[in-house]
Amino acid sequence: MCERLANQGLRVIVAGLDMDFMGKPFGPMPQLLAIADYITKVHAICMHCGDLANHSFRTVPDNALIMLGEKESYIPLCRGCFVAAMEKQPTVG
Ligand SMILES: [Zn+2]
Repeated sequence: MCERLANQGLRVIVAGLDMDFMGKPFGPMPQLLAIADYITKVHAICMHCGDLANHSFRTVPDNALIMLGEKESYIPLCRGCFVAAMEKQPTVG
């Protein structure tokens, strides 16, 4: 749909998470990123070290791929803090 609209000359803007809570490519985003003319990645601030955060770390023990939540369920983490947090949380994955 996005490509068809863009081919018709329309400006298409898509926003979404590029990775799931495990740090894996999420849903249709890899395909959309591949065909996009321009990509802007917006980052939060890592809640552990203050660096730029590109991961959404799930803080509750739930392995569902899609789980709606806000501050009570997710925190933004940079790559290094995300990897360290994932290693401390063996129940997820
Ligand atoms: Zn960090």
